Amino acid sequence: MLPRAELDVQAAVAAVQPVCDDVRSRGAEAVREHTARFDGVDLPTTLVPREALTGALARLDPAVAAALREAARRARLVHEAQVPRESVTYVADGSSVTERYVPVARAGVYVPGGLVAYPSSVVMNVIPAQAAGVSQIAVASPPQQANGGLPHPSVLAACELLGITEVHAAGGAQAIAMLGYGTRDCEAVDTITGPGNVYVAAAKRLLRGVVSTDAEAGPTEVAIVADGSADPAFAAADLIAQAEHDPLAACLLITTDPGLADRVDTELTRQLATTRHAGRVKEALTGQSACVLVDDVDAALAVADAWAPEHLEIQADGADDLASRVRNAGAIFVGPYAPVSLGDYLAGSNHVLPTGGTARHSGGLSVLTFLRGIHVVNCTAAALADVAPHIDALGGAEDLAAHVKAVRVRVPAAGEASGAGDAGRTRETGGTRDAGEAGEAGEVAGARSVPPLRHDLVGRAPYGAPQIDVPARLNTNENPFPPSAALVREIGEAAATAAAALNRYPDRDAVALRRDLAAYLGHGLTASQVWAANGSNEIIQQLLQAFGGPGRTALGFEPSYSMHPIIAQTTSTRWISGSRETDFGIDPDRALATVADVRPDVVFLTSPNNPTGTAVPLAVIEQVCTAAPGMVVVDEAYAEFARDRQATALTLLPRFPRLVVVRTMSKAFALAGARVGYLAADQGVVDALQIVRLPYHLSALTQAAARAALAHAGELLTAVSAIRAGRDELTGWLRARGLSVADSDANFVMFGTFAGRRAVWQALVDRGVLIREVGPPGWLRVTIGAPREMESFRTALEAVLS
Ligand code: PMP
Repeated sequence: MLPRAELDVQAAVAAVQPVCDDVRSRGAEAVREHTARFDGVDLPTTLVPREALTGALARLDPAVAAALREAARRARLVHEAQVPRESVTYVADGSSVTERYVPVARAGVYVPGGLVAYPSSVVMNVIPAQAAGVSQIAVASPPQQANGGLPHPSVLAACELLGITEVHAAGGAQAIAMLGYGTRDCEAVDTITGPGNVYVAAAKRLLRGVVSTDAEAGPTEVAIVADGSADPAFAAADLIAQAEHDPLAACLLITTDPGLADRVDTELTRQLATTRHAGRVKEALTGQSACVLVDDVDAALAVADAWAPEHLEIQADGADDLASRVRNAGAIFVGPYAPVSLGDYLAGSNHVLPTGGTARHSGGLSVLTFLRGIHVVNCTAAALADVAPHIDALGGAEDLAAHVKAVRVRVPAAGEASGAGDAGRTRETGGTRDAGEAGEAGEVAGARSVPPLRHDLVGRAPYGAPQIDVPARLNTNENPFPPSAALVREIGEAAATAAAALNRYPDRDAVALRRDLAAYLGHGLTASQVWAANGSNEIIQQLLQAFGGPGRTALGFEPSYSMHPIIAQTTSTRWISGSRETDFGIDPDRALATVADVRPDVVFLTSPNNPTGTAVPLAVIEQVCTAAPGMVVVDEAYAEFARDRQATALTLLPRFPRLVVVRTMSKAFALAGARVGYLAADQGVVDALQIVRLPYHLSALTQAAARAALAHAGELLTAVSAIRAGRDELTGWLRARGLSVADSDANFVMFGTFAGRRAVWQALVDRGVLIREVGPPGWLRVTIGAPREMESFRTALEAVLS
């Protein structure tokens, strides 16, 4: 029998049940009364005013503040590394299960204020929640009479230091019930963590099911496995340190050496004489504590595993190896210089650990306490057809015919008629295979064989707007004005010069072109801050190759340019779609909340946006740059068409080294055919992109053509003003016909809405005008063309509308 304080949580459950029930039914009033009864203070609200938090931090001993900051920094490193990465498992072609980890929306952290107030507990609970991505964290800690009815000032200071603004002065069972059920002052949380006394543990047990909780924390404990090599002074100091927490603390010395046991005893007597909390230390060491003598280290480990201590120290030869053999412990402290006190404060490990032997089945507090795994199941028709016979069999065996039907209505068995409503429906097929036709019947004559495409690309269609040869092509936001005769001649001459040297690779770094682009952009930019590639699409691809990729996340605010998510996918970057408001603008509060939630490695902001045409105010871009943890890519493909051309993100570059402004020569420069896109960013970003770019990616002909066009910037930008005028005119014309038009800063407008936009699109094609069926349901997008094309568009639309 190994000693351990008895913690009868069940007995306490009976005691706290009425308190919890009362808070559940009467809310804040009940909390107030129980607080008055147990803590001796009457508080009209549990909410601690913000000034109390800032004041507490201002008054905190600077050495303590510095220590808490370092503790938080280390804990953050450890806990951020704990966040599991999303994984996608392909169980068969076209059939995958994605494991997503999603944080709870709101967490409650309890910080005890009993014998000792522990600001370190704030760090240990709050940091994992923050690292998990929990957006709302409420802290509760008992009010103290001596502190004017507020929680202990060091707890308040720690909250302020970690950016916690919602702190409640409430303790014990009433605090747990307040967090779990919610009150007027405190919205109900999803998860409650944090140590506390037996009543806190009992209340958490009662609330389980309403919320999730961390493990029940009983009195703290340590086991030290030591051999004759251990320093008795170290062992004694650690036993005393543990005993200092609580008279109920359990301290075990497990040793192979009776001599060491004696030496530790001597040391205990010596150190106890001067220890500060001698009373409770003695009580703990003479109560549920002991020295266990064992024959060898194997027996020592067996004892430790059986006792399953919250903290296990190993002070013996081969400590690393011994540690690797331990099965049951909350945390293991290896060797003479890793005492539990290091773990209590600054190791970076978590000090909220399983006690009372629960380390047999539970681990300590971690980001997983605040995360839930969600399985996301994807399946193509072909893959469902492949597995359907198995579902037939299992559904049959379990007599669940409707289960079988739910599959067969989608993928009828051979010879079975398809379900109602199936006729004429386009099926999603697994790449080039169609389950309904080729599936089980084997190869169809003349069918192409299926190459072993990457699983996550199976079933994807190539990107591309329809290229239909009609007189007015207004569907891809090209510039309708071809280069002038003079520019055509100069591009020809430049190309001829370049052609004479085509036996050589081009300038790999496109330095001359980048210098010209920097000069065109202005804003003090130099070639080293500019990068060019084959269209801004390639720029975006390179950005995601460098800053996205497996395990990384990109966020965009949709509807927006559809290549952003597509390139994210082909570079194996997880794509998160943030939303826009009904006017297609981006609400800064919602955007920042999404950024805080997703913590994206790359944020895309398209301004002016495609397909809506709407610009994102610079102030919003600035806020996102301030809040985003990674790169912010502002896609300014249409910048030159904006009504306010001063409002470019280029102006923010000096302040945000992780900001990237993407531009293109395809639109304003009327050079879509040459494929030149570029970016401006901090030099570090440009350096990073060199790692992923292909050698000699930009042909000498392209570089020459782009430079010739840049030399004609003035002439080209005159055409841009004509396009802007055409856009504003068209906007007025469409609105005069009762149509909605999104405010456009680009060379196109999005208009609508139509119940059957497909029919409108087709009717326009039939009249020789090709526009784009893109954007939210009901909307269509038309590129501003040459005056003659706009005339055709108006005539055709008028006919369609009437
Ligand atoms: N960004 C946006 C917003 C776009 O609309 C486009 C093209 N339509 C591009 C980038 C890509 O253009 P390019 O590759 O021709 O530079």
